[in-house]
Amino acid sequence: MKYAIITYGCQMNLHESEKIAGVLREHGYDERAELEDADIIVFNTCCIRENAENHAFGNIGALKKLKRQKRHLIIAVGGCMAQEEGKAALLKERFPFLDIIFGTHNLDELGELIERKRREKRAIISLREERRSTEDGIVPVRTSYPNAWVNITYGCNNFCSYCIVPYVRGRERSRHAEDIIAEVTSLVKEGYREITLLGQNVDSYHSEEGVRFPALLDACARIEGKFRLRFMTSHPKDFSEELVETIARHEKICNHIHLPVQSGNDRILALMNRRYTRAHYLECLAMLRARVPGCAVSTDLIVGFPTETEEEFCDTLSLVEEADFSTAFTFIYSPRKGTKAAAMQGQIPEAVQKERIMRLVEAVNANTRRLSAGYVGKDTEILCEDFDKKRGMYLGRNPEGRMGYFTSDRDRIGEFVTLHVTSANGISLYGEERGD
Ligand code: SF4
Repeated sequence: MKYAIITYGCQMNLHESEKIAGVLREHGYDERAELEDADIIVFNTCCIRENAENHAFGNIGALKKLKRQKRHLIIAVGGCMAQEEGKAALLKERFPFLDIIFGTHNLDELGELIERKRREKRAIISLREERRSTEDGIVPVRTSYPNAWVNITYGCNNFCSYCIVPYVRGRERSRHAEDIIAEVTSLVKEGYREITLLGQNVDSYHSEEGVRFPALLDACARIEGKFRLRFMTSHPKDFSEELVETIARHEKICNHIHLPVQSGNDRILALMNRRYTRAHYLECLAMLRARVPGCAVSTDLIVGFPTETEEEFCDTLSLVEEADFSTAFTFIYSPRKGTKAAAMQGQIPEAVQKERIMRLVEAVNANTRRLSAGYVGKDTEILCEDFDKKRGMYLGRNPEGRMGYFTSDRDRIGEFVTLHVTSANGISLYGEERGD
């Protein structure tokens, strides 16, 4: 029996899709397939922006015909959108052919839901208020060799005023440090070469035994073997000197941090409930760069937050240069029902938001290009992770997160390669292997 999983959203969701694949394999679906050939199709949804929701709605709707042709086909919808208040009922009403709707806290139950669906032959909706345990016991089918994701926390307590995540992912819970360390150790033994520790806010990790994030990171970096460590996402309000010292101490921890700032203006940051100022953010970067020279910093930026003025937007623009971001994910503010910001007066017209994001993207790209050009003529180590058929080149990221491309006449995936950079384009570096 064959399965297909369609994933929307962040790394957290990508990793959860690997767990969904793990559950499906245990329940007799053992081959990945295209939609038309699948016996079960699972949508792992995202609701962080309206766009992601509309995409999912469109793609689910498009399966109506297939479901009519293949009566035994099971279609399941899970993830953040399914968990959002009132969305399960809406999904069922709009798509009566759906078989299973399950929430973000029900992953460990998915196998049972499939069995029930087969037995009872009626639609099943199952949404839990919170996860039963931080250990779900699922063996994921990992699809991103040589990279592997490892959850360290679930949920979020921060309630940024624009964000739906705390409502659909619940309160923050940290996994036991020993379980995380054991998972990383076994991944390294299995041959994974880059491990990314995942959480909505990794800096607030604290296990029941009192282990904090810097100590966890330190313990992971002491695991034997040749591999790299990354972590995401960090929150500037919890960013600490101890964390910086840990990064500085270990070569295995990449010289790259993703530290979302969202806005460069203090009034907007306060309205966003981010609980730091522009000055604090810049102090974090100064501390980081003083101890970890050359450390790349990427970020997330939102434009067109309610009441944002042209001057306040310009503060975000100027921060791009001042903070010297290696790259940034830029977003137009998207109101999410149930969040504080969605109810604020002063929503910004779409035309203004679009004009601002174009200027912001240009500023980000200009900085990215300038930093990439700085690699030309130098060597950088990349971890080869894929082959780009279109370009006919192998590719992989360097510790700072830049994508390097090179040619080789043998399979290099999973190998560390020293790339001599000969040209750069955007965030991509091109070159040849040192010694080739
Ligand atoms: S830290 Fe803020 S933006 Fe990030 S998931 Fe939590 S509430 Fe959302």
